[in-house]
Amino acid sequence: MKVIDYINQAKDTILSYEVLPPLKGKNINSLFQHLDPLMEFKPSFINVTYHRSEHVSKQQQDGSVERVEVRKRPGTVGICAAIMNHYQVDAVPHLICGGFTKRETEDALIDLNFLGIDNVLVLRGDAAKGDSEFVPMPNGNNYAIDLLRQADRLNKGLYLEEDILDGFKTNFCLGVAGYPEKHFEATSLEEDLGHLKAKVDAGAEYIVTQMFFDNAKYFDFVDRCRAAGIMVPIVPGLKPLTNKKQLSAIPRIFNVELPQDLVNAMNNSTTDEGCEKVGEEWLTYQSKELKKAGVPVLHYYTLGKPKIVYNAVSQVF
Ligand code: FAD
Repeated sequence: MKVIDYINQAKDTILSYEVLPPLKGKNINSLFQHLDPLMEFKPSFINVTYHRSEHVSKQQQDGSVERVEVRKRPGTVGICAAIMNHYQVDAVPHLICGGFTKRETEDALIDLNFLGIDNVLVLRGDAAKGDSEFVPMPNGNNYAIDLLRQADRLNKGLYLEEDILDGFKTNFCLGVAGYPEKHFEATSLEEDLGHLKAKVDAGAEYIVTQMFFDNAKYFDFVDRCRAAGIMVPIVPGLKPLTNKKQLSAIPRIFNVELPQDLVNAMNNSTTDEGCEKVGEEWLTYQSKELKKAGVPVLHYYTLGKPKIVYNAVSQVF
């Protein structure tokens, strides 16, 4: 079933999770062990992130150093199929522009369609490690909107080979990312909103937000989107804070602000368990307030911390 149908048919806030593919070399059971307890709360769908390959330096036997390409977390499409098969829950693969030609993207979309996966979260992806800015592949998509348009063309039966006439029409429900505190590359929130509106006008049916720790930022973002004519559902993305290192890492990496009360509570904690408790309580508080405000979905970035998400979700759903 499509994400937009889950949202439109729901009478109350629904639940979804986001997981990462296991590191290469790990069994898929590690992912199932992560998800098993969280399934108690009956998520409507589970997103699976996509990870581009990166270049790393590897010492060769003769002592020389060679740059090699590695993909540390492969398998997004296969994992989506495995999740659907194992739990009978819809999976939403993320597809990114970075590292893919349009032809490879079309092949991935065809695989998804053959597997019965009708949902895709369409993203640009970040710059490759070591690059100062995002560089598309030759013959690749440049922005999320370009990938969205490609998927939308497939929904109309239009393939890259123009001689395919009367092509099979896929039926993808396409979501995109939005940034309550602005994407770090945009010069202003207005400019960013303009690009977000273009994605919606091009066929995105819903938006999932970057994580935020201050609900006021989400509410303000929704108001600004509505004023700009962006009327699709806006799904808040929530991540638990779990340790003090994140107090500097998260704002730097994700361009989000942490409320002073949260920073103080973390800094006043003297143990790892204490920090996790602070993160759990903050996540629970955010979730309760958002649910009360009638958000369509609470989407949790579970990222290796299923217990904290479990404890928060159990107090909300
Ligand atoms: P875009 O919408 O293409 O925007 C990128 C930047 O370009 C923005 O600053 C925007 O304002 C600007 N822009 C957009 N269109 C234009 C245009 N036509 N001309 C000029 N400027 C333009 N990354 C991964 O690698 N894998 C994942 O699985 C993944 N999942 C994510 C899930 C969510 C919910 C979110 C919020 C992010 C995720 N990311 C993921 C990170 C994401 O790929 C990065 O934030 C990336 O830098 C931007 O992606 P985007 O889809 O928002 O890009």
